[in-house]
Amino acid sequence: MADEFNPDDLEVLPSHRATVGALQVRRALPQRRRRTVGAWCFADHMGPADVTEGSGLDIGPHPHTGLQTVTWLVDGQALHRDSLGSEQVIAAGDANVMSAGLGVAHAEEATGHYRGTLQGIQLWIAQDDDARHGPAAFQHLDDLPRVEVGAATATIFVGEYQGQRSRARCRAGLVGLELRSHGATDATLALDPGFEYGVIVLEGEAQVDGTPLTAGALGYRRPGRDELGLRASAGSTIIVLGGVPLDHEILMWWNFVARTREEIDAAYDSWMADDGRFGTVTSPLERIATTAPYWRGPRP
Ligand code: MN
Repeated sequence: MADEFNPDDLEVLPSHRATVGALQVRRALPQRRRRTVGAWCFADHMGPADVTEGSGLDIGPHPHTGLQTVTWLVDGQALHRDSLGSEQVIAAGDANVMSAGLGVAHAEEATGHYRGTLQGIQLWIAQDDDARHGPAAFQHLDDLPRVEVGAATATIFVGEYQGQRSRARCRAGLVGLELRSHGATDATLALDPGFEYGVIVLEGEAQVDGTPLTAGALGYRRPGRDELGLRASAGSTIIVLGGVPLDHEILMWWNFVARTREEIDAAYDSWMADDGRFGTVTSPLERIATTAPYWRGPRP
C-alpha cells in the first residue's frame, strides 16, 4: 500500500506560512499531527528578508509564560529587549535564551546599525513544572561549542552533542543543533535512542536517511535510533532538535504555554490589564494585544 506509513520511515510534515511582526515565517511546529519534539513546542523559520537600520523583526512588546524562547540567527542581527531590563544585540551564530517562568515580556527590534539579510529560527521550549512557576531569566550565548560532522560545522545551542555542552540553562533531555555544510556532506549523526528528533532545513538541499527534505519541512524521527544519515548540498543550513518525549499534554495559546485554560485566562487578563505580572519593556514599538481566548465565547 503506497500510502501506508511505515514507522521506520522518516515522517515528513510540511510547514505552514504565517506573519510575525514584519516578517514572513514558515512554522514547522506546532502542527496538528505533531505538537512537540521533546520539549520543543514551537519553531518558526523567519525570513530571509532584507532589513535596515530602522526596520527589522519589528515585534513589539508581548508576554510569555511557561516557556523558553531560543532565538538563533543564520544571517544578520536583531535587538532583543525584555522586561528584565536586558538590551542585547544578537548576531548570526549567537543564541538568546529567555526563560519566561511565571511571566516575562520582550520585543525584537531593528538594531539601529545593521542593514542586510535577516534570517533565523525562533524556537520555544516548554518549561517543566518547577521552572514554569519560577522566575524569568535571560542569557546571551556568544561562545557556543562547535564540532565538525563530515563537511558540516555543528553548533550546539542547547544541550550536549559529542561531549560538548552549551551553557544554555534549560531542562535536561534536550538538544538543539545547527549544521552548516561548507562542502557537500554525507555524514552520520549520533542520536540518543531515548530522544525523538525533528530536522528542519533552512537553506539548501538535504536528505535524511535517504528521504529528501525540502526547506521549511519538518522531518520527524521517533525514539529508538542511535544514528541519522544526513546528506546535504554545500551551503546548507539545517536545524536538528531532539529530546525526551513529553509525558504530559501542554496547552498553547497565543504566547503562553500552560496546562489549563484557567492558567491561560489568568495570563491573558494580566497582560491586558497590565497589572505588573509581565513587567515593562522599554521599546519604541507598540505593545501587542490580542482578543480573548475562544473558549470565553463571543464578546457581548
Ligand atoms: Mn516572543
